Amino acid sequence: MDFIKIILKPKKEESLKRFHPWVFSGAIQKIVGNPNEGDIVDVYTCNNEYLATGHYQIGSIAVRVFSFEKGNADYNFWKGKIEKAYQLRVALGLAENPNNNTYRLVHGEGDSIPGLIIDIYDQTAVLQAHSIGIHLIREQLAKAIKEVLGDQIKNVFYKSESTLPFKANIQVEDGYLMGECDNECLAMENGLKFHVDWLKGQKTGFFVDQRENRALLETYSKGRSVLNMFCYTGGFSFYAMRGGAKLVHSVDSSAKAIELTKQNVEINFPNDPRHEAYAVDAFKFLDEMSDKQYDLIVLDPPAFAKHRDVLRNALQGYKKLNAKAFEKIKPGGILFTFSCSQAVNKEQFRLAVFSAAAMSGRNVRILHQLTQPADHPVNIYHPEGEYLKGLVLYVE
Ligand code: SAH
Repeated sequence: MDFIKIILKPKKEESLKRFHPWVFSGAIQKIVGNPNEGDIVDVYTCNNEYLATGHYQIGSIAVRVFSFEKGNADYNFWKGKIEKAYQLRVALGLAENPNNNTYRLVHGEGDSIPGLIIDIYDQTAVLQAHSIGIHLIREQLAKAIKEVLGDQIKNVFYKSESTLPFKANIQVEDGYLMGECDNECLAMENGLKFHVDWLKGQKTGFFVDQRENRALLETYSKGRSVLNMFCYTGGFSFYAMRGGAKLVHSVDSSAKAIELTKQNVEINFPNDPRHEAYAVDAFKFLDEMSDKQYDLIVLDPPAFAKHRDVLRNALQGYKKLNAKAFEKIKPGGILFTFSCSQAVNKEQFRLAVFSAAAMSGRNVRILHQLTQPADHPVNIYHPEGEYLKGLVLYVE
């Protein structure tokens, strides 16, 4: 098959030679052929030297590279990639673990498959496409998941309506590519159980990336009064309860999230009077709560900056939010504070939290610097993949 050729402008090959997996539209000199979105294209220097192969898409990222070697991206090629990703999760002790059946099987560029996310919840794989190229091969990917993971997987759910840009010529519909589940499946993370609503929930249904940070929180929870702000389905709350917290208050502005949190707490700790959940706006709750009510606070807000152009506002948002926690947390309290905005880097986030601490005038020490877990690996050539940042702070 004759591939479509993308020819770069002079000197624009440098980042690809350093294995960065994106080609920006501004770097392209000429396109030989007439690619449709999602087509597989080869990228060349202006001197006709082969560089890489990837999926073509109209937009600022024109090619998402999945290989730096010329070859056929057929079913076996994709199956090989899924196999490698799976072997890593087995090596990490996440797959085939009776205590934990929730993990990320494929993390986009971090697993050299840009545009693809696969999360595993017990016997269901939730596949999410962030590019048209991945959308077009979804059936092959579902088949590969089934072949590599065997009987561990019964269902593959495709969830991309919210992640793919609308295109008149491409139909994206969420639904099962394989099997079907009545959505009554219970997933398990570190021995704790929870419902995952991949049909209607955020992302693929659960925030898999906070697993290790939740486990760390558990170790700080004994005897503490815990506020889990932006709780979503309650992940941090049930770890705090298992860790021996005195009380746990979960807060989220979404009533649906609060319902799910209550349900999940009930599954793990039936009739436990230590837990209360509130569907309230975070800023309102923090304004109205009394001083020294909590001595362990989690702040895990949604991405305040989805793009670079709103960075300033996002940093102000982090500062304002953290300032409220510093102002009110009990002396000797612990603050777990996060940012999942890709556009905000570690240093910028730390500076925002630093400014918030300074406003309170309190003595604050950094106990841990947190990030995403190893099943969300960062491709060393694609530092943008490191998106989750967290600090654990001791507030005197
Ligand atoms: N900590 C969660 C993930 C948080 S996702 C976990 O471990 O699973 C961010 C959450 O913030 C979402 O559930 C969203 O509904 C909630 N949210 C967004 N804006 C909010 C606001 N202004 N006040 C309270 N919650 C908000």
